[in-house]
Amino acid sequence: MSLSKVIAIDGPSGSGKSTIAKELAQSLGVLYIDTGAMFRSLAYMCEQRSIAMTSGPSMENFLKTIKLEYGKSSECLICVDGENLTTKIREHSVSKLASIISQIPEVRSYLLNFQRELASKVVCVMEGRDIGTVVFPDAFCKFFVTASVEVRSQRRLDQLIEGGDNEMSLDQVMADVKKRDASDMNREVAPLKKASDAILVDTSEMNQAEVLKELEGGIRSKAKEIGINL
Ligand code: C5P
Repeated sequence: MSLSKVIAIDGPSGSGKSTIAKELAQSLGVLYIDTGAMFRSLAYMCEQRSIAMTSGPSMENFLKTIKLEYGKSSECLICVDGENLTTKIREHSVSKLASIISQIPEVRSYLLNFQRELASKVVCVMEGRDIGTVVFPDAFCKFFVTASVEVRSQRRLDQLIEGGDNEMSLDQVMADVKKRDASDMNREVAPLKKASDAILVDTSEMNQAEVLKELEGGIRSKAKEIGINL
């Protein structure tokens, strides 16, 4: 069986998967694909255009007519209908909207095709919730990155403060993280779960540099085994 040239990194929010995925891609010299940014962008645009985040003709029409672009440059990671959304989609309010829109089957199916097409020609690190289970079950390397809910909430709070948002308490952030986990893990289509052949990485008490070193070593030897040039 031929395997996809995808390094799949899945896991819940705040697990550290984005930082790991970005640094891995950079160090391996391959494309970094952030699928969460895609859900966030579609949710942001629906909110802006007052399109209901439900299944049905208006959502289908929205998906049929938009132009989604990914990876034009590092300043413009994601763009919808010519508008650069890279920074706007990082706000806390957009996280909640993304979690809502991610439950809609039409949206998942649209992004599934988009993600497969994007990764069809290149080696890449793709991060999300369902990459190793649904989007690329045949990825040559899979990781499921996680951490305790306390650690993930503290990391999320630190990110918000860093971004100038001092309004939330740790308890509020933890409540949101738990809510998002529950909805990501229990949704009907493509729920968040570890693929049976993914390597589990718990970052709660791990040093980032060590995690990266270990993952990179594993990826390089796997790639060599199956003839992928890294
Ligand atoms: O990873 P990030 O926090 O940016 O993702 C935002 C939301 O998008 C997640 O909470 C999840 O609901 C949804 N998502 C998803 N499948 C993916 C990536 C993200 O359902 N592959």
